[in-house]
Amino acid sequence: MPAPNIDTIVSLAKRRGFVFPSSEVYGGLGSAWDYGPLGVELCNNVKQAWWRWLVYERDDIEGIDSSIILNRLVWQYSGHEATFNDWLVDCRKCKGRFRADKIVDQKCPACGSNDWTEARPFNTMLQTKLGAVADDDPTSLAYLRPETAQGIFINFLNVQTAMRRKLPFGIAQVGKSFRNEVTPGNFILRTREFEQMEMEYFVSPSAEHSKLVDYWVEQYLEWFGSLGISRENLYLYEVPEDELAHYSKRTVDIMYRYFPEREKPWEELMGIAWRTDFDLSTHSKNKLDEEGKRINPDSTEDLSYFDEPTKQRFYPHVIEPAAGVNRTVLAVLMDAYSERTTDKGETRVILKLSPQLAPIKAAILPLAKNKPEIVGMAKAIKRSLQPVLRAVYDDTGGIGKLYARQDEIGTPFCITVDHQSLEDEAVTVRDRDTWEQERIKVSDLAEHLQKRLKPYPVATPETS
Ligand code: ATP
Repeated sequence: MPAPNIDTIVSLAKRRGFVFPSSEVYGGLGSAWDYGPLGVELCNNVKQAWWRWLVYERDDIEGIDSSIILNRLVWQYSGHEATFNDWLVDCRKCKGRFRADKIVDQKCPACGSNDWTEARPFNTMLQTKLGAVADDDPTSLAYLRPETAQGIFINFLNVQTAMRRKLPFGIAQVGKSFRNEVTPGNFILRTREFEQMEMEYFVSPSAEHSKLVDYWVEQYLEWFGSLGISRENLYLYEVPEDELAHYSKRTVDIMYRYFPEREKPWEELMGIAWRTDFDLSTHSKNKLDEEGKRINPDSTEDLSYFDEPTKQRFYPHVIEPAAGVNRTVLAVLMDAYSERTTDKGETRVILKLSPQLAPIKAAILPLAKNKPEIVGMAKAIKRSLQPVLRAVYDDTGGIGKLYARQDEIGTPFCITVDHQSLEDEAVTVRDRDTWEQERIKVSDLAEHLQKRLKPYPVATPETS
């Protein structure tokens, strides 16, 4: 049973230190959010799982980390300056301003009216100014990147040459992107500052591009499954031709059921696009248009590729899986949410996070905090586990309360140190999902937990 709605997650996230409204002491900043001690761990674990999966476990993908602020010409030639628009409409009755494509049944979400102005474009790139220049100096204008992808395209040749890569290969990047969203909202689903995990997979112009889109869709469905997101809460949306971005010949969106309570419950979790050779050719100095004119007189490089076997030079095509960190985190939290009733009839929240994503892997709890020997032993166990996995010590409540607290933040294991432990050098290991308990020798504890935490990464070299 996933969370019944996003609000359930908003309150859990604030109460337990995952996500706080940003700038709250000044009344907030519409739809900006800060990640707390557990939220930052969860985000890092998602990003690390993604990086491990693509960059480490595959042989055909490299990673990079490009600048957030790029030369303005990048955004001119990528088409973002001219076309990275949302279509805006104003409600004539309440003066509210909305994104035209998000209006349901022509009704104003604020007042119910259907009296709209004509739709007009609004460029959603966030502007800034570089250097100590006059306010009106147009040469100082720069943008905070609206996607991480362009930083990859302009480094295509650097990576390919430095790493001696042959097609097909991919370049992955994770980092912040910014969009001046007209109507941000729904918690961390749509914000003006967010994080993306993007990968550009470069292939020959004669590759089977549509099949490659299907391939990456399948790969990501599997990956989301490994993060604990149930397949039935995901839905594939084939973007119709008239809705495709200017660079795309085919895009499939993976949607997640973010609004189970609504008639239309789906919203985009990620998109997989065939971006053709648009990006590499648009940034290249040698590409000519139909009339034989250079399409980019400003570029100093040619981002084409020489294919040895066929002795041909061409601009590689790109298949791009583009996912949001924050939307993945929200989907993970919603899918992990569950409730259970205790023998006493109390409702407990259990966050059944995949162990690899859980912010804390083990909580060490002393059964009697007024017994120095028990406390000492529990703290020593915490210290010994810490280099191997993220562990915490907690003695700020009775054992029932401590268990409940760890269940609610998704800690897979609670380790209890009791009077008996002083005699037999063993502890009780309690499983978050079954509430079953096992007695384990302290000397075997690290290995026992590591085994059960799989696929938590344990470096095991393979020889075949
Ligand atoms: P939408 O239609 O929801 O605005 P999009 O199609 O513009 O999204 P893409 O350009 O495909 O989004 O970006 C790739 C991914 O980046 C999205 O699938 C989403 O996970 C994430 N993303 C995009 N915009 C935002 C945002 N404003 N807040 C949070 N995540 C975002």
